[in-house]
Amino acid sequence: MSIRARIDAALDERRQSQLLREHRLYTQGSAINFSSNDYLGLSQAPEVKQAFADGIRDYGSGSGASPLVSGYYPAHQALTAQLCEWTGMPRALLFNSGFAANQAVLFCLLQKGDVLLQDKLNHASLQEAGMLSPATQWRFRHNDVGHLTSLVARHSPQLIITEGVFSMDGDIAPLENIAEHKGNALLMVDDAHAAGVLGEEGRGSETPCDIKVITFGKALGVAGAAVLCDESIYEYLLQFARHYTYSTAMPPAQACAISTAVTLARKDQWRRDRLHELSELFYHELAGSARAIRTATPIKPVVYDSIAEVMSVAERLNQHGMRISAIRPPTVPTPRLRITLTALHSDNAVKQLCQRIKQGE
Ligand SMILES: *Cc1c(COP(=O)(O)O)cnc(C)c1O
Repeated sequence: MSIRARIDAALDERRQSQLLREHRLYTQGSAINFSSNDYLGLSQAPEVKQAFADGIRDYGSGSGASPLVSGYYPAHQALTAQLCEWTGMPRALLFNSGFAANQAVLFCLLQKGDVLLQDKLNHASLQEAGMLSPATQWRFRHNDVGHLTSLVARHSPQLIITEGVFSMDGDIAPLENIAEHKGNALLMVDDAHAAGVLGEEGRGSETPCDIKVITFGKALGVAGAAVLCDESIYEYLLQFARHYTYSTAMPPAQACAISTAVTLARKDQWRRDRLHELSELFYHELAGSARAIRTATPIKPVVYDSIAEVMSVAERLNQHGMRISAIRPPTVPTPRLRITLTALHSDNAVKQLCQRIKQGE
């Protein structure tokens, strides 16, 4: 088959199974957004916008080079120091995205003959990086420490990876239990959905780990990521992580914006309190519905039996001015609405949402 024929065949198959992905233009203010990961509402915080603008005034638009050439500015240094202080991890390395950070760590640390264990529901960036890495990958059943323990005994892994908060289910990993059973492996925690949201001052998952990845595009409202680790892993990544060495550093203005977002995430406890209030309201309004799965995070899955059903509910919600994404296989095993709450939602918006969901039943 020619490459063009293969492309056409793959697209036809997606179309026929109703799984074709499309852009949907989101015009701000045109709908209430229940599908954003901007949990704390920081993408709209005036202080963060101002820090971005001031950063552009002071540094210009871009970094102009990779970080080891001339793209590393005081703004990057200040941000990494702040991240270390916030999370209690000794060192931090900045990346342009969580996707790149995860690839960098796995490609760089793992060698042929190594064994990597990761949770079956880890983010696509981790699954793919594990598959493409030179290591042999085994996946343990979601949050199943018994299964993990038996794989550790059988394979003596070098690296174990899980997430602090799972992006599609909104549930939390049993990190303490995992840390107890990790054997000699390094433990890596992708805290993309926990940073800013969980823990005191929003510092994320509290269980000590060897490598922590946090992303800035979710609760921190900007974009980019950091790998947090000890001195020797940091030094090793700095020498050998190709995603770091051969990629233009994030714009220093962006680092300024992220720094301000971190400051606000730490001190604005009201944003986390508001999320808890809205979460309680959500379950109160949906009382009696078996579809809404209870979570302790702003991620609220509402599950359906079929793709057709979830698509029609999502379509109706969208027609009523609510931006909600239906998440379908292969991204998740069970079709669902993935509803995310943010600190900026009103009580009324959440009530309306729940009424519409109940009407769809
Ligand atoms: C979003 C996400 C990523 C990717 O981060 P980006 O900065 O968006 O590339 C990685 N891991 C998890 C768990 C995520 O949710």
